[in-house]
Amino acid sequence: MVDEKTVEQLMILGTGPAGLAAGLYGARAGLSPLILSGIEIGGQAALTDRIENYPGFPEGVGGNKLADLFQKNAERFGARIEYDYATHVNLSMRPFKVSTYSKEYFSKVLIISMGASPNKLNIPGENEFRGRGVSYCATCDGWFFKGKEVAVVGGGDSALEEGIFLTRFANSIYIIHRRNELRAGAILEERARNNPKIHFIWDSVVTYIQGNDSVKQVQLKNVKTEVSSSLKVEGVFIFIGHTPNTDNFKEQLELDDKGYIIVDKRMRTNIPGVYAAGEICDPYYRQVITSAGMGAAAAIEATRFLESEEK
Ligand code: NAP
Repeated sequence: MVDEKTVEQLMILGTGPAGLAAGLYGARAGLSPLILSGIEIGGQAALTDRIENYPGFPEGVGGNKLADLFQKNAERFGARIEYDYATHVNLSMRPFKVSTYSKEYFSKVLIISMGASPNKLNIPGENEFRGRGVSYCATCDGWFFKGKEVAVVGGGDSALEEGIFLTRFANSIYIIHRRNELRAGAILEERARNNPKIHFIWDSVVTYIQGNDSVKQVQLKNVKTEVSSSLKVEGVFIFIGHTPNTDNFKEQLELDDKGYIIVDKRMRTNIPGVYAAGEICDPYYRQVITSAGMGAAAAIEATRFLESEEK
């Protein structure tokens, strides 16, 4: 039997822009939401050096700073952040049960905003040299590559944005893309092409990451000519898209073929009382503003759901 006194009204899993915006709206509705932090406050947005497309900050704002402001805003109205990580969620019972390594929580309503994780290349050397030259976050690790040569893999916005960031530290940045056309937006493309430290290697994939104590070079293959070559670099930054963090929900919620939680226009999943927001259900936009908007919408829906149940 669950002790009713310990049951939360609203629990939110994750503290990216979606989770913290949901926390703000849930708190302002008087639900005193409990937010589980996940691995770190702010999610992927907090790892972004500069965010220039979140309205209200004409000069741009640091990702970490923005996450901090989101958190303060939610806490000001009574959201509570618990530094914990959901290891299992049981959606087959009401109240829903959220387990962490140390505790069990129960909640009448859930908003799942656990984001997505960077994809891996799955090539030899990638795991072995992770943290010793292989990285998925330029903001976190760029500083270690002062005056060095580094490779960036990918041709999307992330690869270019992070590649441009790396020009602060590294001597040369080689952006290795499997096609000869970028997926990234025009502004980033122009900035990257105009930066003398950035060089593009087209139609190529990395097949092997090699080194001793740390990365020393990568093996490349031109996908058109099939010719292999090596490139001396001390860092390999990989930005080839993301996978939603939905392992916990595979047997419980409707997911699309890429594993994203399926929600309707009102952020409802297939289980009444369970909502999703942000990158865990969004393969299309992945912006701070869209995630925050989804978080707000999910919290408004959660509030209405609780009200209708009370009636
Ligand atoms: P993305 O747009 O999916 O781009 C991934 C890139 O990695 C693509 O160029 C893809 O090549 C390449 N790739 C995928 N798998 C690969 C593999 N196995 N080997 C080699 N290359 C591989 O991912 P993203 O750049 O992380 O961006 C995701 C979303 O976030 C996008 O909607 C983007 O607009 C948004 N975003 C926006 C900003 C911003 O507005 N400033 C910043 C970051 C991200 P192909 O092109 O050949 O498919």
